[in-house]
Amino acid sequence: MPLPLVYHDEYSPPFPDGHRFPMEKFRLLRDHLVASGLTVDAELRRPEPCPADILALAHDPAYIERYCSGELSREELRRLGLPWTPALARRTVLAVGGSLLAAELALEHGLACHLAGGTHHAHYDHPSGFCIFNDLAVIARYLLASGRIGRVLIFDCDVHQGDGTARILEDTPEAITVSLHCEQNFPARKAKSDWDIGLPLGMGDADYLKVVDDALNYLLPLYQPDIVLYDAGVDVHRDDALGYLELTDAGLAARDGAVLRHCLEREIPVVGVIGGGYDPDHAALARRHGILHHSAARLWRELGLG
Ligand SMILES: [Zn+2]
Repeated sequence: MPLPLVYHDEYSPPFPDGHRFPMEKFRLLRDHLVASGLTVDAELRRPEPCPADILALAHDPAYIERYCSGELSREELRRLGLPWTPALARRTVLAVGGSLLAAELALEHGLACHLAGGTHHAHYDHPSGFCIFNDLAVIARYLLASGRIGRVLIFDCDVHQGDGTARILEDTPEAITVSLHCEQNFPARKAKSDWDIGLPLGMGDADYLKVVDDALNYLLPLYQPDIVLYDAGVDVHRDDALGYLELTDAGLAARDGAVLRHCLEREIPVVGVIGGGYDPDHAALARRHGILHHSAARLWRELGLG
């Protein structure tokens, strides 16, 4: 079977032109993966919306209700940075469902990738930085509660710190939060992950890849997690509009390949989510996100996972 990929046709709802958040990137990523021969539309797995009781494993039920019914305060909307619409609310809950489905598929098959996900700034009871519900924290809590895993490690390579994930899971010792981020990027006030690896402004491929290798060589044997949730944010790229690191396309491919290989060669299931990426050239951005899926598909074939 081919590498499991998760997508929903409602991931890119209508959105104001020129908004800083590239909402159409999910659809463009799907188009790119089909056009580049990685998949065909009929093979993409479509998620169900994440049920509210599962969201509530990581979020305040009153916040879930407030968001889904369009009753966020002006201050909450300001922190979110996205205009609320019913289509956005539905998309949000579908995308958490998508990460959940991808995690289920990864547990079953060893590896799976989402064409969305990685909303790591979302907090227990409020949104932040384009993030509403924290799929990483929800999955971690859900899989732990199900009893199917005893320990999960979140390896967050988005250029921004996974502050929401760190705070939601700070009292969940079975969920190890690891954030590799540029120290100068948002959020200004950092949370405390289990492992924070703050990187200096302008770091390039070689130094970055060394940090990734060292971190995984240390952390995976130390914790021996039952699954790894990998946030493959591409806002570490040198052309990104928000990130302050300087990775190239080749650096991204090397990073994604290394993270997935570290997990798979230790027989640890791994699920990839796309995380952040901000480039006014949305086609270029979609191709950049697709590096994750292409890297995963190469390993899937090479290791004979299908
Ligand atoms: Zn980011």
